[in-house]
Amino acid sequence: MNDCLFCKIVAGIIPSTKVYEDETVLAFRDIAPMAPTHILVIPKAHIPDAASVTPENSAVVAHIFEVIGEIAKSEGLDEGFRVVSNCGAHAGQTVHHLHFHILGGRQLTLEMA
Ligand code: 5GP
Ligand code: ZN
Repeated sequence: MNDCLFCKIVAGIIPSTKVYEDETVLAFRDIAPMAPTHILVIPKAHIPDAASVTPENSAVVAHIFEVIGEIAKSEGLDEGFRVVSNCGAHAGQTVHHLHFHILGGRQLTLEMA
C-alpha cells in the first residue's frame, strides 16, 4: 500500500462519507468544507495531479465530469457550482492524488471557494 491518503480512502482504510462510487470513480464529502456543499471526486487509480493526465489515463477524467454533473443534480446545486483542481505548490495542492472539488450551496467569491 502506498502512503497516499486518497488511495487509503479508496481502499476503505480511512473512512469517508461517500456520495458516489462506481468501478473507477469515488466521490466523498470534504472533511473541512469551504461551502455548504463541498465534495471531492477522485479516480480510484492513483494519478498525482492534473499535470499527470495523459492519453493513457484521461478517460477517467471525462467520466469524472459526467459524475460531477450527476452529483450536482442530486445535491440540488441548481443555482450553479464550482469545480476546482489544485495542481502543485503554487495552487496549494495538499493531497497528491488527482481530485476535483465541487463547491456550491451559496454565492461563491473569486477565491477558491
Ligand atoms: P487540495 O488542497 O489538495 O486541493 O485538497 C485536499 C482536500 O482534501 C482539502 O480540501 C482537505 O480538506 C481534504 N481532506 C484532507 N484530508 C481528508 C480526509 O481525511 N478526508 C476527507 N474527506 N477530506 C480530506
Ligand atoms: Zn493515491
